[in-house]
Amino acid sequence: MWNFVPLGRTSALIKGKGPGVWVIGTVHGEEPAGFCAIMESAALLSGLGFPMVVIPCANLSGIASAKRYGAEYPVAGIREDGAFRRGLIGLGQLIRPRLVLDLHEDDEMPEEPGVYLYHHGKNDRLASKFVDVLRLWQIPIQGPWATRFGENLIDGVVKCGADASIDDFLNTRFDAEVVVFETPIRWSLRARIEAQRAAIGLLRILASALEPELFENEEALHG
Ligand SMILES: [Zn+2]
Repeated sequence: MWNFVPLGRTSALIKGKGPGVWVIGTVHGEEPAGFCAIMESAALLSGLGFPMVVIPCANLSGIASAKRYGAEYPVAGIREDGAFRRGLIGLGQLIRPRLVLDLHEDDEMPEEPGVYLYHHGKNDRLASKFVDVLRLWQIPIQGPWATRFGENLIDGVVKCGADASIDDFLNTRFDAEVVVFETPIRWSLRARIEAQRAAIGLLRILASALEPELFENEEALHG
């Protein structure tokens, strides 16, 4: 059973209490596929037995105007001490993020692009497992490339340091393993949504790989 929680100017859906998994969509307003994929994955997300926070659209005013930044997620990112940030801290105290999937899109990729990840955290196996399963599901993975921020993409993953993102914030504040999933805007919206849905479909595998004692028996507990 989901409950709605106001989160700055947007809202979150939550269920359960304790260590759990977070899914975040459309932090950047011009990246709609994450929001769409979360809505289309409602049944799947409801079927996951562990505590969850789902923020379908982190940037409501941004998506309304198709602009990257908005009132909830300004240019300064999460450094701004607003209601959104305070809301995240409150949610984290209730449902501590162990694994976070943050859904993004990239509009500055090479020709014939593929999906790729940013990873904030210590568990490198987690990110490579994510890429391995996507590859198994025949989703094109971006080859070696330097992103627009000059980061090196190796085996589908950019290893992240400190920045002003919600991802770094959740990693440093709560010690969460954060995977940021990027789809190329060159693809059709439908193809991007399908890839994002695949990433959401990986949550159960990733959560149990990360922390078997917490997440492996979730079906036995709640089924
Ligand atoms: Zn983005």
